[in-house]
Amino acid sequence: MTDTLPAAAARARAIADRVEAFVRTVVAPFERDPRCGAHGPADTLVAELRALAKAAGVLTPHILADGSHLSHREVAVVLRAAGLSPLGPIAVNVAAPDEGNMYLLGKVATEAQKARFLAPLVAGRARSAFFMTEPAADGGAGSDPSMLQTQAIRDGNGWRIDGRKAFITGAQGAAVGIVMAKAPEGASLFLVDLPDPAIRIERVLDTIDSSMPGGHAVVAIDGLRVTADQMLGEPGDGYALAQVRLAPARLTHCMRWLGGCTRAHEIAVDYANRRMAFGKPLIDHEGVGFMLAENLIDLKQAELMIDWCADILDTGALGTAESSMAKVAVSEALMRIADRCVQVMGGTGVSGDTIVEQIFREVRAFRIYDGPTEVHKWSLAKKIKRDWKAAGAQG
Ligand SMILES: Cc1cc2nc3c(=O)[nH]c(=O)nc-3n(C[C@H](O)[C@H](O)[C@H](O)COP(=O)(O)OP(=O)(O)OC[C@H]3O[C@@H](n4cnc5c(N)ncnc54)[C@H](O)[C@@H]3O)c2cc1C
Repeated sequence: MTDTLPAAAARARAIADRVEAFVRTVVAPFERDPRCGAHGPADTLVAELRALAKAAGVLTPHILADGSHLSHREVAVVLRAAGLSPLGPIAVNVAAPDEGNMYLLGKVATEAQKARFLAPLVAGRARSAFFMTEPAADGGAGSDPSMLQTQAIRDGNGWRIDGRKAFITGAQGAAVGIVMAKAPEGASLFLVDLPDPAIRIERVLDTIDSSMPGGHAVVAIDGLRVTADQMLGEPGDGYALAQVRLAPARLTHCMRWLGGCTRAHEIAVDYANRRMAFGKPLIDHEGVGFMLAENLIDLKQAELMIDWCADILDTGALGTAESSMAKVAVSEALMRIADRCVQVMGGTGVSGDTIVEQIFREVRAFRIYDGPTEVHKWSLAKKIKRDWKAAGAQG
């Protein structure tokens, strides 16, 4: 079968097949492990899963032994397989925010920065966090990143950073941080070793989702000192560098949660075929059968949208508009799928007896992070207006 595929597709399929087998047989049984807490899996569980992934040869599967990165289209196949369990991405080291942070550092960090900050992430020895959002109560950056308040001022040979951040995934327990702060030249990114006494976790928020280790923290940054060589790129490059990470990171969320919803659909299908009501299996009731049919259609459309956008990123384009379109289409489709899975399964669907309930919660949060649906639509509307003007306002 793989003989007839182009070489890259065959390579990705082979990696994805190994990841899928690992996630289904080795990782999935850990979904009931008591170390899966409200603030994500405990780091002892992460370490145990990663040791198993390493032994199975599937740790960090999207980065090859020579340091090269799979294409976006190849990553799509592999991350869908990893996402088949909510624990899969963290087990094989393709989870957010590490995967996006590795991608960014691989693209723009200096060799010294890669050795210090990227190597432990690729090896799966460390976790990382991306510090951009700030508390709404402070009037800080959220949907609008230009509201950035965290300040970076020159301090001798380096910088001093002060501010507060919110929703910082994995900050609790991370070893590497990428902090966005406003220098006189504009938003800039700084690499930091964690923990640091100047970066204090105020609290870990109680959020609807629970798949990401460390949860999502509110963080105070008070007199953080970094040397000049800890800046990523140049002063004022922050938003441009964040763009490098943005579109691929949006798309990899789509890939992982497509895997999650594929599994939720499988569980709902199994339930609908076994469970009887009014003298026949649920699936033979048209209302249920149609819900599952609509799932199939949404799953395929999500897959095609991801592959389309991945192909665009593989041309080297930033894919800003295309990744916005993909993020909206996929996250909204996945929400419909997760909701139908819950409904098909009745009371069991809202219980913790299967991962369907968790997938529903995770996908709900996904409609907000990496750009809420409305913000993507709003930026697309602005582009439509720009394009209309550029075309000479004809029509
Ligand atoms: C689970 C989770 C994990 C996260 N992880 C991280 C992380 O690791 N690092 C990080 O820096 N941030 C992270 N975030 C923050 C995330 O990026 C922000 O929540 C998101 O950008 C929205 O910002 P906000 O919450 O301040 O919402 P607000 O900016 O207050 O917006 C609220 C709502 O207003 C609407 N809205 C806003 N602008 C427009 C517009 N132009 N047109 C129409 N409607 C609009 C949208 O519906 C939006 O949901 C995470 C968030 C969540 C929920």
